[in-house]
Amino acid sequence: MKIRFLMIGGILFGVAVVGATALAMTNEAADRLARDIFKQLIEINTTDSVGSTTVAAEAMAARLHDAGYPASDVQVLGPEPRRGNLVARLRGTGELKPILMICHLDVVEARREDWSMDPFQFIEKDGYFYGRGTGDIKDGDAILVTTMIRLKQEGYQPDRDLILALTAGEESGVANGVDWLIKNHRDLIDAEFILNPDAGDFELEHGKKLLVGIQASEKLYQDYDLKVTNPGGHSSQPGKANAIYELAEGLTRLEHYQFPFELSEVTRAYFAREAEIVGEETGADMKAILKTPPDEAAMTRLSAEPFYNGRMRTTCVATMLNAGHSRNALPATARANVNCRVLPGHSTQEIQTTLEKILGDPHFTITPVKYRGAGVDANPPTPLRADVIGALEKVSAQMWPGVPVIPMMDAGASDSSLTRAAGIPSYGVPGFFYDINDDRSHGRDERLIVSYFYEGVDFYYRFLKALTSPD
Ligand SMILES: [Zn+2]
Repeated sequence: MKIRFLMIGGILFGVAVVGATALAMTNEAADRLARDIFKQLIEINTTDSVGSTTVAAEAMAARLHDAGYPASDVQVLGPEPRRGNLVARLRGTGELKPILMICHLDVVEARREDWSMDPFQFIEKDGYFYGRGTGDIKDGDAILVTTMIRLKQEGYQPDRDLILALTAGEESGVANGVDWLIKNHRDLIDAEFILNPDAGDFELEHGKKLLVGIQASEKLYQDYDLKVTNPGGHSSQPGKANAIYELAEGLTRLEHYQFPFELSEVTRAYFAREAEIVGEETGADMKAILKTPPDEAAMTRLSAEPFYNGRMRTTCVATMLNAGHSRNALPATARANVNCRVLPGHSTQEIQTTLEKILGDPHFTITPVKYRGAGVDANPPTPLRADVIGALEKVSAQMWPGVPVIPMMDAGASDSSLTRAAGIPSYGVPGFFYDINDDRSHGRDERLIVSYFYEGVDFYYRFLKALTSPD
């Protein structure tokens, strides 16, 4: 039995705490705690260059210990001294397989001279929290640690274990913590499914909540190095062979190529719900592409919008060029980087074969650029489980009535691509709304609206309860 102390009307009472009769934290206390944790995390530098996720992980471990987690259920571990990960477990009844929450601790580099303030100082100003990581994704870390503490302190027993993994190396691609944990400590983090606040979109525009987007699929990130080689020679006597012209012609063919239209369960659900929100001609077009066969004219119109196009097909685009070695010499080599965002279910090799066909020139060599080293080819969309979507819809209706819940596929990549490749269904659920016109992740003066951070604290508490004690 533990004794805790409680202030009631200014008088200190000793309270016996037994199992489920423990103290429930008020919303105000949870907000205060979350802000404290958020501040602490922002002020611990976790950049790849000079920072340490170990320091952040240990700070969070200490908080969890203080809240009553036994040492055996909280660990800091990793492949290198500066790249530690935290894994903590709240024990449930064991009725069902655990839920794992993943969220990265590392942040993108931030230089003081680029910012209006110190990026590693937590500042609250004019309704915003400022600092590197306020949007990506120490807000998520703080919300999850707060929720783990809150659930523990009230003696909550979920119908399965809740595991929290705060990880390293998401931004830099070095010593990726999720990848490392999957390969070295699968038993510690194995779960029925995963929640990741660093994916999905709770969208806000001009103060109006647009949608609660749960990410159940994402495209695979893959770069290809394109290279043309010629004998070269003196530029005063140009002949037919010119690596720059050959590369340019190949890239022009790529520009005009369109990968096939393809929808999955997730993107079908996305367009069906998005159609209701946007309405008008665009909404009608979205409905028309869901028909069998899809309406060609509608598909063409939607493809003109990069945002929708990226959700309908694989895209490959030239992003860098490098050619020639002297002003007065014929170029012997010309290279381009082609960045592809590949729909789930298509392999690196398959896209390479397509690129070879499009470029159609034996002088080209095409080499995939190694990325993260994980088997992201096997990155299937996560099935839209009724229990997860149902819990999200329930909590969303309580907190934000009328705001639609929409399954979505991200065109970018998160750590969920690694967990899906490892066979664990993964959902991106941020919990906090952000303004779609003010996304400063990875940029200068990164910030988050204060009130939506606190909504996120409330949201995750309710969401985890809805998932683990359904009635
Ligand atoms: Zn992130």
